[in-house]
Amino acid sequence: MSLLFLTIVTGCSQPSSLYQDQFLAFGTVVSLSIWGASKQQNHEASRLIREDFAAMHDTWHAWKKGGLLGEINQNISDGKPTPLSQEASELLQQSATLSEQSNHLFNPAIGKLVALWGFHGEERKGPPPAQEKIDLLLQSNPTLSTLQFTEGNIQSSNPSVKIDLGGIAKGYAVDRAIEQLKQLGIQHAIVNTGGDLRAIGAHGERNWNIGIRAPDGGEPIASLQPKNDESIFTSGDYERMFLYEGKRYHHIIDPRTGWPATGTRSVTVIHKRATIADAAATALLIADPEQRTTIAKQMGIEQLLIIDQAGDYHMSESMQQRLTFLGDPPHITRLVIR
Ligand code: AMP
Ligand code: MG
Repeated sequence: MSLLFLTIVTGCSQPSSLYQDQFLAFGTVVSLSIWGASKQQNHEASRLIREDFAAMHDTWHAWKKGGLLGEINQNISDGKPTPLSQEASELLQQSATLSEQSNHLFNPAIGKLVALWGFHGEERKGPPPAQEKIDLLLQSNPTLSTLQFTEGNIQSSNPSVKIDLGGIAKGYAVDRAIEQLKQLGIQHAIVNTGGDLRAIGAHGERNWNIGIRAPDGGEPIASLQPKNDESIFTSGDYERMFLYEGKRYHHIIDPRTGWPATGTRSVTVIHKRATIADAAATALLIADPEQRTTIAKQMGIEQLLIIDQAGDYHMSESMQQRLTFLGDPPHITRLVIR
């Protein structure tokens, strides 16, 4: 769920042409909006996407037993290979590539650290883990670069790798959903997972219109019109977190320190592919100010908005061109990505 909560502003919609469906998956509300398709296409789309999200949720769940990821993690820990479909292998290979492009700030191999902080469970509370335990996990240096894909199997040379795809799974599921819509012949739609979305086509005669809310959850700060086919993803330090002795500890862990990332409140990126946007938003929430533009570039991100802890906005020109501020425009520091 994103604090920069994105809402679809439907305005003067013609209800007969706009179809909407909502359901729960990945612990968040998934909303499907389709414009201008037949009743049959709409219902088939809902059925397929609901089924696929439920399957993705079970297959890639980070801590519930019984899914493929649970099996892979158990086998990695035991030094054994796991047979893998081509599709599953592609997601893991893409995760490994994105991790390398982010200088391993996006590091889905740190599942043990995420679990140590208590984020593998429904309830989260302090105190923070002991520094010695964090240090031990850091020393084991888990990365996806240790994965080997051979003869339809996956294996890791490092048994301390525990894969957690929480930073990319929603994006991957959104991309799959959009592919399914396209295959059904649907040209105008939004698939929105708790504020993170991919939009294709338009809303009738005009573009889709997305409101971007302020980090405090108040009125939208800006609106944005997705063009043709675009994904807009946000990562924030306010999403899953716990309070302990007056301090806030959130769920995005800096793999260099083993502690929740500091300095940035939220990151919003626009990219064609939701999978890439999702991984990049997570990586850039962790990146230091000096690294941001290099990592954005390596991950193929040009449209980038960062709100830091002081509430200051840092934005690339291409992002600024897309936003219409609804109140007083904030003070903006330009990010140059090249
Ligand atoms: P997101 O909301 O997309 O930024 O993803 C956050 C989720 O990704 C967390 O709840 C964890 O499951 C996982 N995660 C935490 N830290 C990292 C990291 N450094 N790299 C990759 N995934 C992470
Ligand atoms: Mg992410």
